[in-house]
Formats: sequence, C-alpha cells, structure tokens
Amino acid sequence: MYKIAFIGLGNMGSGMCANLTKQLSLDAFQVTAFDLNSEAVTAAAAAGAVPGTSIADSVKDADCVITMLPAGAHVASVYFDTGGITQSAPTSALLVDCSTIAVSEAREISNKASDLGFVSLDAPVSGGVAAANAGTLTFMVGGDNADFLRAQTIFQAMGKNIFHAGPSGNGQAAKTANNMLLGISMIATSEAFTLAEKLGLDAQTFFDIASNASGQCWSMTSYCPAPGPVAAAPSNNDYQAGFAVAMMLKDLRLAADAAASCRTATPFGAKAESTYAALADAGMADRDFSIIMQHLDIGDSA
Ligand code: NAD
Repeated sequence: MYKIAFIGLGNMGSGMCANLTKQLSLDAFQVTAFDLNSEAVTAAAAAGAVPGTSIADSVKDADCVITMLPAGAHVASVYFDTGGITQSAPTSALLVDCSTIAVSEAREISNKASDLGFVSLDAPVSGGVAAANAGTLTFMVGGDNADFLRAQTIFQAMGKNIFHAGPSGNGQAAKTANNMLLGISMIATSEAFTLAEKLGLDAQTFFDIASNASGQCWSMTSYCPAPGPVAAAPSNNDYQAGFAVAMMLKDLRLAADAAASCRTATPFGAKAESTYAALADAGMADRDFSIIMQHLDIGDSA
C-alpha cells in the first residue's frame, strides 16, 4: 500500500487532504493527516484519513509527504527540526511542499533535504479554497521531471491543471509572479467596478459586459470584489476569507524580494504591496483580500 502523510490541514490543506482520501483507491493508498490543531485532524479522520499524533508518527513509513503550511519558516521547521520529516521519514519518501514560500527558501530547503538524502518538489497551488475543496487546483511544480511524473496521481487527485515549471524553486517562481498579478488585478478590478458604478452602471450590468470584453480576468469572473455577480465570491459573504489580506501581503512581499534578487522593476506590484499593508494595518488582515473594493482610498495614506 502506498502511504501518504499530509501535514497542515488549514483552509487549503483540509480540502486537499479530503480529496486525496476520496479520490485515491483506499485499497491502494493510505493517507495519514496531521496538524497542530487537533480539531483539524479529527475532521480529516472523519473524511477518511488516518489521524496522525505527531509529525514523526505520521511520516515514519510514508512513501510521500505533503506539506501545506503558512510560510517558509513553518516548512523549514517541519522539515528539519527535531522530530521533523527529515529525521523521521525514510529517505525513499518523496517530499512535496504545496505551501507558498520564497523562491530562495524553496531552493534552500530542497538543497538541504537533498544533502540529507531526500528528493523534494516545490508544488504551490492556485485556485483558492473553493478549488482546494473541489479538487480543481492548478499545481506549478519545481524539481526533477522524473520526480514530477512520480507524483502525477497525487496531483491529479487534488488538481485539474498540473504544470512542471522546471528545476527546484521554479514552481514558487511561477506562483510569486502569478500572485503579484492577482494582487494588482484585484485592485484594478475594484477600481473599474467603482468607476462604472459612479458613471451609472450597476455591478451586474458592468460584469456582463466586461466579463465578455477585454477587461475580463479571474479577479472579476471567479472572485468578483463587487457584491452580486459571482454568488460564491467572498464579496457576497461580508468579505470573509477565502484568501486573507495577510496572505496576499505575504505573497506580494515574496514577489518584491524575488524581484529585488533579480533586479527587476515591479512598480505596480510595489503599489499593491503598500495597499495591502495599509489594509492589514487598518485591522483587516484576516478579511478576504477582495475587501479592497470597499477601501480603494486606503493606499493614499500608505
Ligand atoms: P492556514 O493558516 O489556514 O493553514 C495552515 C495550517 O498549518 C494550520 O492549520 C496550522 O495549524 C498548520 N500548521 C502550522 N504549523 C504547523 C506545524 N508545525 N505542524 C503541523 N501543522 C502546522 O493557511 P492556508 O490558507 O491553508 O494556506 C496554506 C498555504 O497555502 C499558505 O502558504 C498560503 O499562502 C497558500 N495558499 C493559500 C490560498 C488560500 O486561498 N487560502 C491559496 C493558494 C495558496
């Protein structure tokens, strides 16, 4: 039996782990789930996973270890601290980190894991909580192609679009550029809906037109920041995350660091970063990032 350990059962990981247990044949696969939050482990067990009692216990005979953690420091800790993955899993285990972390951190973690005898992939995702729950995530994967191919069945159980982006760190490079674009496009979409409304168009009318015109983008069609047109969007649920302002700010800072490391000018990315920093400072760190729609003037004071 092929054994998968899944560590990090938060907004994203809970749905991804549930899809692994649901999609993969239970005769051939076993998924052990662990999180510091015991309620999340209980919920994963209710969805068919084996409840893990610690990282060491969860990974001890794993063929593959998947992590979905908040940031790079958490990934490094879970990989390398006492009782962590590289101390407790067999070196034959394929390590797949799906968290969004810095390109540089992903490459350092991969090199250090390799020095300890492990093969690893960086495999960040796009699509948000709805796609994590539906099993329709986009995976962007960095690492050797042979290892990428080894993990196909696992990615396919959680995602719809699965891309090999190149060597270690390239998955995070794709993710950081994508999310900088998302941060900018969410602000731009909010500006456009606000302008259209001031000019006399209601949100649905502008949506019907722009979603079939050249302004069309994911921030509009899947996650419209104006309440109304997209029923499942957080704008229709009092801007509850979803994808929190704090997470978007983290990603924009990762993009700024990455841009600095390769001396690339990203002025709109920088503006989006200062805008989301101002939202977080104003007490909205836990709200959905589309709440920028309600606070477009906030960046002026940033
Ligand atoms: P989250 O905070 O909801 O979940 C993280 C989970 O990790 C929590 O349940 C926490 O208890 C657990 N955790 C932290 N340290 C741990 C440890 N040492 N051992 C075991 N468990 C530990 O975060 P999330 O929204 O699920 O995001 C996870 C990652 O996915 C982040 O890197 C984020 O940037 C990325 N991401 C999020 C979204 C989104 O829409 N939320 C979309 C794409 C990518």
